[in-house]
Amino acid sequence: MLLEEAIKTAMERTQKKGVDGWGLYTRNPRLEELGEWVEVAPPRGCFDPRCAHNSHDPAAPIVRWVPREGTLHYLGYDERDYEYYLLRLPGEDLYLRLRGEEFCHDRLELIDPSRVPEYLLVDYLKKKAFEQ
Ligand SMILES: [Zn+2]
Repeated sequence: MLLEEAIKTAMERTQKKGVDGWGLYTRNPRLEELGEWVEVAPPRGCFDPRCAHNSHDPAAPIVRWVPREGTLHYLGYDERDYEYYLLRLPGEDLYLRLRGEEFCHDRLELIDPSRVPEYLLVDYLKKKAFEQ
């Protein structure tokens, strides 16, 4: 592969919209199937090979989950533990939650819409109305 080609591919992959997290992972097979994983920043964290990483997760890169289809919308942050996203697929909306706990790899989950704080949905709607 020519350098120009490699750069073009890298640019395309790293500029796609997605959800970023430190060592981001999911245990949800649907999300695994719907998205691809792109490393967007080098590993950081604990690199000590003698460390058992008991109180923290080992070093990991910043990983972006990029949906292969649909459009991703950021719903907001609950000011505590979670960030919420909406993935609009043809005829279906999926609600995603990013768990960002200090010293732990970030986890992406698929959640029931009832678990999205209502104030975030209301704020999102207001923002949308303002943009139009
Ligand atoms: Zn460690």
